[in-house]
Amino acid sequence: MVFTGVGRPLIERDVPRLEAGPGTLRLDVRACGVCRTDLHILDGELQRPKLPLVLGHQIVGTVAALGDGVTRFAVGQRVGVPWLAWTCGQCRFCRDGRENLCDEARFTGYDVDGGFAEETVADERYCFPIPDGYPDAQAAPLLCAGLIGYRAYSFTGDALRLGLYGFGAAAHIVCQVACAEGRRVFAFTRPGDTDGQAFARQLGAEWAGGSNERPPEELDAAIVFAAAGELVPAALAASVKGGSVVCAGIHMSDIPSFPYELLWGERSIRSVANLTRRDGEAFMRVAPAVPVHTEVTVFPLAEAGAALEALRSSSVRGAVVLSVGDGSSP
Ligand SMILES: [Zn+2]
Ligand SMILES: [Zn+2]
Repeated sequence: MVFTGVGRPLIERDVPRLEAGPGTLRLDVRACGVCRTDLHILDGELQRPKLPLVLGHQIVGTVAALGDGVTRFAVGQRVGVPWLAWTCGQCRFCRDGRENLCDEARFTGYDVDGGFAEETVADERYCFPIPDGYPDAQAAPLLCAGLIGYRAYSFTGDALRLGLYGFGAAAHIVCQVACAEGRRVFAFTRPGDTDGQAFARQLGAEWAGGSNERPPEELDAAIVFAAAGELVPAALAASVKGGSVVCAGIHMSDIPSFPYELLWGERSIRSVANLTRRDGEAFMRVAPAVPVHTEVTVFPLAEAGAALEALRSSSVRGAVVLSVGDGSSP
């Protein structure tokens, strides 16, 4: 399925068989998660995609062919391809362990073709083995919702009372990790989304309410997963002195101005950008240990457009995933 420009629907297109170049894997895609970032690209809020483009950066595939020099994976192995597709290895960010901030970084389903397709090619150095026990569709959301969510969670330090604003794919995973580590989770959904609030409580949240509500206690930290800038001052207002508000999305509407008093008391706001390979390796150990169970709504590849709209309308619980091929799991 190919994206050709803002305002145009994805179109189905046959392309010649891909070749695995040096250091890359050719993968038969089994499943690919759908992420809010895909909507930001579709809507032109992320403005520099390669065109035409195959979207999708939460890819679970099996290795079909190896390029020259591949050492980490074998044909038939199941691997995951995340958002981070390539980094320069030379810039100051790459050299000091912050490759997520690399000046030259390339991203899957943005700078290079992604997984809304039957086949894809990926640099083996940025791929992860998929933990056993996860069917393909359930594994896909681990690759962005899970591991970028986990990076955001790691910035909340040892916060005991954790607020999650926006209870979609990422929050439903982070909620499980946080509860397993003994945190108390307070979940915020769109006002009136009683289904979403029940879902959050089912996953261990001790309180769930609308994003227009104040939690019953102050929060030690909050993660804002929703792309709504007005949630930042709301999260600050709900936070205790010294608390931190972590913005996990790649794009957010403008943050309205707010009184300095909300930030006073050493509260902080920060964003989370992309991921490092170290984040991925860490999260792929944590997920099966919790164990994280992902709730997914699966669409066939040909219905990628409908899957994106389902995500936009928040009409599904948990994560949206495209199933590719015969849809069976190992
Ligand atoms: Zn994503
Ligand atoms: Zn770099």
